[in-house]
Amino acid sequence: MALEPCTKSPTATLPAATATAELPVLRERGQREVFCGLTGIVWLHRKMQDAFFLVVGSRTCAHLVQSAAGVMIFAEPRFGTAILGERDLAGLADANEELERVVEELLVRRPDISTLFLVGSCPSEVIKLDLAKAAEKLNHRHFPKTRVLNYSGSGIETTFTQGEDTCLASMVPVLPEKPPETGETAELLIVGSLADVVEDQFTRLFNKMGIGPVAFFPPRRAANLPRVGKGTKLLVAQPFLSETVRLLMRRGAELLPSPYPFGIEGTTAWLRTAAEAWEIDDAQFEAAIAPSVTRAKLGLDRYRALLSGRKAFLFPDSQLEIPLARFLSRECGMELIEVGTPYIDRKLMDAEIALLPEGTSLSEGQDVEKQLDRCREARPDITVCGLGLANPLEAEGLSTKWSIELVFSPLHGYDQAGDLAELFVRSSERRRRLSV
Ligand code: SF4
Repeated sequence: MALEPCTKSPTATLPAATATAELPVLRERGQREVFCGLTGIVWLHRKMQDAFFLVVGSRTCAHLVQSAAGVMIFAEPRFGTAILGERDLAGLADANEELERVVEELLVRRPDISTLFLVGSCPSEVIKLDLAKAAEKLNHRHFPKTRVLNYSGSGIETTFTQGEDTCLASMVPVLPEKPPETGETAELLIVGSLADVVEDQFTRLFNKMGIGPVAFFPPRRAANLPRVGKGTKLLVAQPFLSETVRLLMRRGAELLPSPYPFGIEGTTAWLRTAAEAWEIDDAQFEAAIAPSVTRAKLGLDRYRALLSGRKAFLFPDSQLEIPLARFLSRECGMELIEVGTPYIDRKLMDAEIALLPEGTSLSEGQDVEKQLDRCREARPDITVCGLGLANPLEAEGLSTKWSIELVFSPLHGYDQAGDLAELFVRSSERRRRLSV
């Protein structure tokens, strides 16, 4: 086994379907095209600057993370891959011993690491390497200087954003308990990684409304874990965190169901959910958001005219599809041909589904060839899809938007509403210019 700085993921099966019986949802369980959960390392290592992500996997895994995150020449990277060699895979070497050696060397070289994530992959799962046990043993040796946790980023059961879910879920058991003397005093916990600039904007708005205390999960430093317990109210910022939310609720937190803060309407609904839980009166709420809303309207107006009346088709990839479709339809005036999403968790998605226009064609899961046929037939103006589908569709004359870009970019909140619309304008404009 060797430590290497860290694209292709195989198709995989979907998580079990959730109950959506009363909704007209097309459920497909065929071949699908997605990246695996290792992709989450790309934004998580930027968010938690004192953490290190050690993928235990193959050269393919190393290449995936390396090419998705880009090569850092001047900075010490905060991710890497412990490559399982042929001897490890054949069971000739003791992979546990090898892994321990790699971790020891890493921690000697990088004493700044406060949290080390051992990240499982398809190969480590195939050879049944028990990373939970390895993490426990290493944590026993290195905590409190370095906490060692583990989670799976394998492509066998995930879509790419679930990597964040499994990562955050691995942290929930070690979050400090809310002190008993605080009783059930309300505290707001924002769940889901947000760009620091967006986090600061939301913090200012919560302060203006008088909502608090507010904490963010994941935090900017993995060592500064937020506390949780009775009285913690969860406002979820990313729609793909089913397991994390379930575990936080098991620790006594209460979920505030809400649409997600994409676009002006989504952001207002999201903030209002918190304001209602804190019983902030309407006048105070409106006064707090008014300047941001005015600015956001100016930012969005110039793009609405370019998107209005155009047709959008969303392939299932990031789990952001339903909130994005709601934004494209209600705030940009686009017509939704089909809204595909990898899976629907009603607990986290009902508030969004309720805002989709009546008769929206919603699909869960994928049978990629059939879905491609539907897309070709509809000839949408913009197709939101994974990287694997984008090039062939572009070659057929369709404008595409990479869904992964929508996860990497800071797009939540009022000040980013115009940027979000611009991303869609840009891809269709690019095609228009190319075809002139
Ligand atoms: S975890 Fe699996 S799907 Fe992801 S890069 Fe490694 S081998 Fe491929």
